[in-house]
Amino acid sequence: MSNKHTIDLDFDREHIWHPYTSMIDPLPVYPVTRTYDNKIELETGEVLIDGMASWWSAIHGYGHPKIVKAIQQQAQVMSHVMFGGLTHQPAVDLCKKLLAITPKSLEKVFLADSGSVSVEVAIKMALQYWMSLGKTGKSKLMTAKKGYHGDTFAAMSVCDPVNSMHNLYQGFLPEHVFVDAPKSSFFATQCQAELLQLEQAFIDHHDEVAAFIIEPMVQNAGGMNFYNPEYLKCIRELCNKYDVLLILDEIATGFGRTGKMFACEHADIEPDIMCIGKALTGGAMTLSATLATENVALGISRGDAKVLMHGPTFMGNPLACSAANASIELLTNEYGLAQVRRIENALAILEDCSKFEEVVDVRVLGAIGVVELNTSIDVAKIQQFFISQGVWIRPFGKLIYVMPPYTTPNQDIEKLCKSIFKAIAEKAY
Ligand SMILES: *Cc1c(COP(=O)(O)O)cnc(C)c1O
Repeated sequence: MSNKHTIDLDFDREHIWHPYTSMIDPLPVYPVTRTYDNKIELETGEVLIDGMASWWSAIHGYGHPKIVKAIQQQAQVMSHVMFGGLTHQPAVDLCKKLLAITPKSLEKVFLADSGSVSVEVAIKMALQYWMSLGKTGKSKLMTAKKGYHGDTFAAMSVCDPVNSMHNLYQGFLPEHVFVDAPKSSFFATQCQAELLQLEQAFIDHHDEVAAFIIEPMVQNAGGMNFYNPEYLKCIRELCNKYDVLLILDEIATGFGRTGKMFACEHADIEPDIMCIGKALTGGAMTLSATLATENVALGISRGDAKVLMHGPTFMGNPLACSAANASIELLTNEYGLAQVRRIENALAILEDCSKFEEVVDVRVLGAIGVVELNTSIDVAKIQQFFISQGVWIRPFGKLIYVMPPYTTPNQDIEKLCKSIFKAIAEKAY
């Protein structure tokens, strides 16, 4: 079959690593030649409706003319320049825009190149903050199980220990304090016993903990867990009470995905440090940022080190900043969160899947729809089925989920939902 392709699949299989795969027995990959609107076009000519927004990032679909134009215009003037000792309009514009839409108490922006790196920077900020106050004992992090914060070492050390195979890297990973994953659902009332347990963990560990890190409202790659806003509120209060910083990882949830511009707005709280990435450039380029309060930033700068010890080569990349400026303008001026609400309503038909006995839960929040099965899914098998249906959906574990571009028309949302229904009905998993 691969002989018919111009994209050399044999070479790909033999020499190129894809995410989370074996080099002996990799899952199949499908050659793509073009992406546009909410579509992925394969080399075979098949056009797929995209249900994944390229891992939360392509919120305006692909090749949006305003984003393409911003990148083209910027490329003609300055694709990149070092950020050490230099600055430029795209970066200044972007940071102004970010401060206008993120929680008010965040005032200082660090631009980085990927989500994982922004998490590394957030962790460094928290550690350096307490060091500069002379509290050197605060050298650990606290987090909830089922989290996902990236694949670099410090980020991985706060991911769910089982999902991210902590035992594999024993001795290399710093050991942190894990509390149980939040149990009370977004849609239910908060269980008070759970909050008491949380406080006990703060009582036991606050002396050694620099920061609590969590994804607000939705634990994403760690299990698509939609938890209760009261839980997040409680964490904020406990962080204040026990002198622990709060890092919110909005890399997946930010820029409207949960129905609010940032998910922490559901709980009406603000973090001390916040990470953003993924949809920041509308999925066009890689870029992330770590934002901090004035208190955190000044605390670090008053310490012995005086500076934040980080500076990626491609920090503040002008092309990526220009794409981000265009994306944020689209989100705030043209599409808005009304599109997310429209998709949330359209995703409601996923509920039909709950009639199957192998479905244990169906949940929708903002432009995220999840169908949880009671059994593991054969990704290669279901992927082939979805492609035969003309949709791109990539499940993991027991979860079939979609987070489509906000520009997806209602009939395409319906197609995504019906394909999931059919996959379960025909046991294509
Ligand atoms: C994807 C993700 C990351 C890591 O971002 P990368 O750009 O892949 O390094 C971190 N945190 C959350 C919540 C994510 O969803």
